[in-house]
Amino acid sequence: MMPYFDHAASTPVDPLVARSIAATLQDPGLQANPASVHRPGRMAAARVEAARAEVATLIGAQVDEVVFTSGATEANNLAIIGAAQFRAGGGRHLVTCATEHRSVVEPFRRLEAQGFKVTWLVPDDQGIFGPEQVAAALRPDTTLVSVMQVNNETGVVQDIAAIGAICRAAGVLFHVDAVQAAGREPIDVRKMSADLLSLSAHKFHGPKGVGALFLDREHSRRVEPLLVGGAQEHALRPGTVATHQVIGMGVAARLATERIGVDPDRIRALRDALWTRLQCVPGVLLNGHPQRRACHILNISVVGAEGESLLLALRRVAISRGSACASNDAEPSPVLHHLGRSDELARSSLRFSLARTNTPAEVEFVAEELHAAIRHLRRIAPAGVV
Ligand code: PMP
Repeated sequence: MMPYFDHAASTPVDPLVARSIAATLQDPGLQANPASVHRPGRMAAARVEAARAEVATLIGAQVDEVVFTSGATEANNLAIIGAAQFRAGGGRHLVTCATEHRSVVEPFRRLEAQGFKVTWLVPDDQGIFGPEQVAAALRPDTTLVSVMQVNNETGVVQDIAAIGAICRAAGVLFHVDAVQAAGREPIDVRKMSADLLSLSAHKFHGPKGVGALFLDREHSRRVEPLLVGGAQEHALRPGTVATHQVIGMGVAARLATERIGVDPDRIRALRDALWTRLQCVPGVLLNGHPQRRACHILNISVVGAEGESLLLALRRVAISRGSACASNDAEPSPVLHHLGRSDELARSSLRFSLARTNTPAEVEFVAEELHAAIRHLRRIAPAGVV
C-alpha cells in the first residue's frame, strides 16, 4: 500500500474503533433513537453517555461538558459564532490568530461582516505568538479569544495555558481548536483555562463526521445554537445523535488517552528521523519553530522546486502541501505567508504528517523518494533557478 504521510488531514480508523462501529450498527439492541425514553432508547443513550465520558476524560472535562457535533468545523462554528452572538450584548470585539484553520477564520470573517470587530494576531516567523500579544489585544468590549493549540500546517504549539490565564483574568471567553493536539499533545481544559474546545474524531483514529465541543460548565454554558430543533445535546446541537459515530469516537478517545504516554514519543522519533534525512539536502528549509512543535508534523519548503511538481514527482507517497481544506486553492498557503515565507517558498512547501501506524521503513522510503524528486526537479529546472 502507498505510504501514508497525511495524518494531519485524516488518520486511519483504528481496528478497535471500526469493530465498535460495526458492532453498534449490527446490534439489534442499539438501533433505537438514543433520545427515546423506552428501554432500547435508554440502552443506546447509555452507550452514548459512556462515549461522552471517554471524550471528557481525554481533555480533563466533566462528562456533561461535552456536546457531540458533526466534526470540528461545526464545533468551531458553534463555539465562535455561538459565543459571539450570545455575548454580543457585552461587546462585539473578538480576537484570533491569522494562522488559524479555515473553520475558525471563516466564522470570524462572517462575524466581521455582521459588524463585529476582530483583531487578527500575527505570529512571528516561527509561527509563535506571545501571550502578551493577546493581552495587548484585549479591550473592554472583547468577549471571545480563539487560538488553536497545534497548527495543522506547521505543527507549531502555542502557549495555550498562558493565553487562557490572561483571558480568564480578563473575564473573556477562551476557545481552543485542539483538533491537531488530540492524541499528540496533552489536553487539560482546566490547566488551559479553556471555556470552549473543539475536537474531531478522524484526527485521532476515529471515524469522520463526528466531533465534539467542550463547554465549560461555569464559564460558557450558554452559546447561541447554530441549529434549532429538538432538545438533543442540551439543545445546543439538535438532531438525532449518531450512535455508531459517537461510540466510535469514544473508543478512539479511550485509545488516545491510554496511548498519550507512548505514541507521541514514537511518532516524534520517526518525524525527526525523516527530518535528519532531509535537512542535509541544500535548500530544504523547515517551516515553523524547530522545537515548539507537536510530534506529527514536518513542514518544509524546497528552494527552487515548485510544490505541485514536487507532489507529482512524489506520487508514490500520500502527502500534501498543507491543509486539505485549502487544497483546491492555487494560492500559496496563507499560514506560511504569515510566517514571512515568500510566495515562492510558500508554494514549494510540503507537509509530512505521521501517526502511530507509520514505520521506519516508510520513513526511509519517503526520504529516498524526496531526495530523488528534488534531484530530478533541479536537473530539469532552468539554469539559475536553484
Ligand atoms: N481545525 C483544525 C486545526 C483542523 O486540522 C481541521 C481538519 N482539517 C478542522 C479544524 C476541521 O475538522 P473537520 O474536518 O472535522 O471539520
